[in-house]
Amino acid sequence: MAKIEGGCLCGKIRYSGEADPLAAVVCNCTSCQKQTGSAYSINLVMPKGSLDIQGEMEVYTHAGDSGQPVYRNFCGNCGSSVISELSVMDTIVILKAGSLDDTSWVKPTTEIYCDSAQEWTRVKTELESHPKMLPS
Ligand SMILES: [Zn+2]
Ligand SMILES: [Zn+2]
Repeated sequence: MAKIEGGCLCGKIRYSGEADPLAAVVCNCTSCQKQTGSAYSINLVMPKGSLDIQGEMEVYTHAGDSGQPVYRNFCGNCGSSVISELSVMDTIVILKAGSLDDTSWVKPTTEIYCDSAQEWTRVKTELESHPKMLPS
C-alpha cells in the first residue's frame, strides 16, 4: 500500500494518507497546462476524505468541460497546485502527483485530453489514451 505524503513547494501545505490511488492519470487539458506552467499534470485519483491536509489552501474555481465547477486548490504562499476537486465527481479528489515527497512509485496508466497534448509529449504511446475526458 502506498504511503501518500507530500506538500507544496514552501511547505505551508502538507498532506498524508494511507489509501491507494484509484488511478494515476496524465491530463493534457489546457487548464492543467496553464495551472502547472508545464505540458500536463499527473493526477492521482484519491478517494475523497483519504487525505489528511494541514494548512489552508486558496481555491480557484472555473467551469470544466461539463460546464460544472472545477475547484483548483493551491498554496497561496508559493502557488503550488496541490489538489483539484470536480463537482461532477464528488467521491474523489485529484492529487497533483508532482507534490509528493517521493514520486518514484507513481506509474500513470492512462492519458486524457490527448487532443490538446503538446506535440513533443507524444512519446508515451504505451499509455491508454483518450482524446478528452474518460468515457463515463
Ligand atoms: Zn506553499
Ligand atoms: Zn487537466
